[in-house]
Amino acid sequence: MKALLLDLDDTLLDYSGGAEHCWTEACRAVAGTLDLVRLVEALTVSRRSFWDDPERQRRERVNMLRAWTQIAARALEAYGAPAPGLAAAIAAEFSARRRAVMALFPEALACLGVLRAAGVPLGLVTNGDATEQRWKIERCALAPFFGAIVIEGEVGAGKPDAIVYRTALKALGVAPGPDVWMVGDHLEFDVAGAQRLGLHGVWMDRAGAGLPAEATVRPDRIVRALDEVVRAFATISP
Ligand SMILES: [Mg+2]
Repeated sequence: MKALLLDLDDTLLDYSGGAEHCWTEACRAVAGTLDLVRLVEALTVSRRSFWDDPERQRRERVNMLRAWTQIAARALEAYGAPAPGLAAAIAAEFSARRRAVMALFPEALACLGVLRAAGVPLGLVTNGDATEQRWKIERCALAPFFGAIVIEGEVGAGKPDAIVYRTALKALGVAPGPDVWMVGDHLEFDVAGAQRLGLHGVWMDRAGAGLPAEATVRPDRIVRALDEVVRAFATISP
């Protein structure tokens, strides 16, 4: 392994874990007399349809507070109680609660420490909102581990655009090749995009669910946690 590129959300950081609960608690805090169960159901539907549109996802993921406000506004409309002010309040509550509970996966810091100590050049390659991603990196004290940090909201391009992996590798001073690993939970962004550049595409399947039946991407390797990457590295390095 000549270098390792890592995704952030749901690879190093448990990003999705607390989301459901945070939406419920955000509604409980500010939605007053509205029926909590119905509103949360409307939010679940709204979130799914909002992010299911790939074009909208690309457009909106670089401004998450705006995205969450739109999601809440659509949910309130579907509920039958449109209220832009309340939508903004739910989004702000959600954001604050999310930040309070967000944490790295238990093995992440130790694994980064081992790889860094072993001299493996590390790059963090993440899609999304510059402010949000920087906040996460800061909060989790991740920056010292990485020789390159590439954030979509900062560079103006996101995975699976080859320029993203190339930018990270250039900063690390490493050429693309099969001895460069990209590890992440998104089959297209973290695996297929990296493979098209000739990198070793590693899929992080934390749930151990295996490849979805409809998946056409074939990862070079599937892991359930970062320590498997560290073990693989220890095995292949002289
Ligand atoms: Mg991810």
